[in-house]
Order: sequence, then C-alpha cells, then structure tokens
Amino acid sequence: MSAFDITGIRQDFPILGRSVRGRPLTYLDNAATSQKPSVVIKALERYYSEQNANVHRGVHLLSEEATTAYEAARASVAKFLGLKEARGCIFVRGATEGINLVAECWGRANLKAGDEILLTQLEHHANIVPWQVIAERTGAKVIVTPVTPRGEVDLVAFKGLLSARTKLVAFAHVSNALGTVNPAAEMTRLAQAAGALVLIDGCQSAAHFKVDVPALGCDFYAFSGHKTFGPTGIGVLWGRPELLDAMPPYQFGGDMIRKVDFAGTTFREAPERFEAGTPDISGAIALGVALEYVMPIQTAAHAHEQRLLAAATERLKAIKGLTIVGEATEKVAVISFNIVGGHPHDIGTLLDADGIAIRTGHHCCMPLMKHYGLSGTARASFAFYNTLEEVDRLADSLEKARKMMA
Ligand code: PMP
Repeated sequence: MSAFDITGIRQDFPILGRSVRGRPLTYLDNAATSQKPSVVIKALERYYSEQNANVHRGVHLLSEEATTAYEAARASVAKFLGLKEARGCIFVRGATEGINLVAECWGRANLKAGDEILLTQLEHHANIVPWQVIAERTGAKVIVTPVTPRGEVDLVAFKGLLSARTKLVAFAHVSNALGTVNPAAEMTRLAQAAGALVLIDGCQSAAHFKVDVPALGCDFYAFSGHKTFGPTGIGVLWGRPELLDAMPPYQFGGDMIRKVDFAGTTFREAPERFEAGTPDISGAIALGVALEYVMPIQTAAHAHEQRLLAAATERLKAIKGLTIVGEATEKVAVISFNIVGGHPHDIGTLLDADGIAIRTGHHCCMPLMKHYGLSGTARASFAFYNTLEEVDRLADSLEKARKMMA
C-alpha cells in the first residue's frame, strides 16, 4: 500500500462509485459540501439503531452511552483543532451559526458607537452579514481590508486599518471562492497587538490541512461539519472559555441553565451555556467519527491535493480563453475560473452532462465578485479522494465546452 492509498480511500466513500448521466461521477464541488465516508454513515445508523437517547439527562444506560459518545465527539473536535481542553468547543449547526453566535452574544454586549469590526474583501456572506447587522444595532462600523489582484489579503492595508477602534477582526482562514490561504497567524498577531479579538472562519480550511488553533492564537474559530466529511446540520464554534463564559447566552432552555427560579435564572458555563435544548446528538457523534477518520491522513491528503491543484492549474491554463481568478501563492485545491464567451452557469451545465459536478455563481461572495468586476465564476474544488484522472476529465470536458460555447 502506498503512503496515500487513493484506491482504498475512494472505496471508503460509497457515493464516489455512482454514475451521473451515464458517466462516472466526478465530484469537484467539495467547497460546497464534502462527501461522507462509510464510517460516518454507519455512525449515524448505529446511533439510531443502538444508542438513541437524550444526553446529559438520564440515569439509564442508553442515556449514559449517548452522553459519553456525544462528549467523546467534543474531545475529537478539540484534538482536531489542536486543543488540550474541549470546553471551548460548542456544537452549533455550522459555521454560519457559529459566527452569528459570536456576533450576537459577544457583539451585542461589547460593541458600541465608534467601534470598528475589520473584515476582508474575500469573506463569505456568512462572515459579512452578521457583522453588518450587529454593527447597525450597536452603532459600530464595518471596515473592509482590500485584496490584491492575485486574491490575497493586502497585508499593508490590513495593518493600516487596525487601530484602537478595532474591536474585532473576522476573516476566512481560506477563501471559498478563490482557495487563497490567508496568513491567519500573522493577521491574528497584528489584530491582537492592536487590542482586537479575532474570529477565524475555518469553513474551508478544516477539510484541507491540519488546523492548530493554539498556534493561530485566535479567540474564536468556526467550521462546518458537512464540509469536513461529517453530516449536515452540525458544526463547531470554538472560543476561549473565559470569553465564552463572559458572553450572555442567546438561546435559553434546557441544559444551559444552572438554576431556574421565577425569581431569576442562572446559566452554566461553556459549552452548555450555548447549547440550549436537545442538540444534534447523532450529528455530533458522526462529526467526531469524520474527524477521527481524517486526522491520521491529513498530511498525506494535503500533499495529494496540492498535486491535484498543480496538475489542474497547469491543464486549465492551457485552455484557450480560460482565466483563473485568484492566483495566491498559497492555495488549497480550489480553482475559480471563467472562459471567454461562456457564462459560468453554461460551463457548469455542460460539465454536468459529463458527470462533473462543479459550482458556478458568486459563491456567496458578492463583494469579492464585485471587486473583480465579475457576476460569478465557475469553481472546481477538490478533496483528497479526487484523482489526477478526474483532473484530466475536467480539463477535457472544459476544452469540449469551450469549443461548444465559441
Ligand atoms: N464561510 C465560508 C468560507 C464558507 O465557504 C461557508 C460555506 N460555503 C460558510 C462560511 C458557511 O458555512 P455553512 O453554510 O456550512 O454554515
């Protein structure tokens, strides 16, 4: 077996064996959502066939087992993020909910008129709109760091925009639209030196390389399970426990309370503080299984993906009239592109006829598209289970599409 057994890995993902429109599925829409290995699918089934019970409540065996599995999943999340302690890991629906939680709970309590929230031009709408809304409510202001033509955050501008007014800096670890890997540790250090807290949107990083939260030094980190080979409906917000404990909760109910009395109610600390009600137990357990699946292969998977990125970049660049949007020095295996004379949507439709799934449109990054003067792009995004053969299939199909659109 080679260091990275791609054949064995592909067999772990049942969906990769299906055909689409009479062709083998070539799934290159991993930035939208990743596929799930059998261990994750089986974990969901096993939970409902053998363990289903509510957590943290029962004295009976099933409830104990479900609670143990749920908390073991939290421990897996902590390990995945390089953390010694799991307490700051809150199960949420996904990155969107994690970012909204911080905007609502931290923002509402800590922002005021004159404060600034610094973002970047390449953020996903999920890391723009919650800040816009909380800024409107508190009188704070959203400031935007520009990106360079290559699709990298302009670090000189970033430094220049930081000031004593900056209370929070939020940015994507990796751009979903371009694949740019931001210098997250450096940006964090600069922001904190200016006195700001830092939230990193890790939605697109967690699936591609080892994330080490302590090394990044950030204050909050959010990612979605479904982009990290786990189920939909589950994700993680990590926050520094002392920050979380000082934040007022935003959903109230079972499990998050310490004591309820009509005279007044007290709340628990993190993580329960932000997990009101029955959580997505099966989703959390299956996410834990997904992360345990990924962790041992992360280094080899990243190297494999970088080979796919290099091969795909070379082949796509050779296609007449094709322009790659975003050519950062450090990228994950995501390629955004346009072809002269073809709308991204047409490219996507023509590729679909060959069984190739890509994403087209603004990728929930309208401000970034505006910066490039584009309405959208076509985007091929790879995962470690993709192959060099699929890179060839993509390039061949694009060549065919180009001719049809010409
Ligand atoms: N941030 C980034 C960078 C993303 O790519 C996405 C999903 N496309 C999100 C946030 C939101 O993730 P979710 O929809 O899973 O909450």
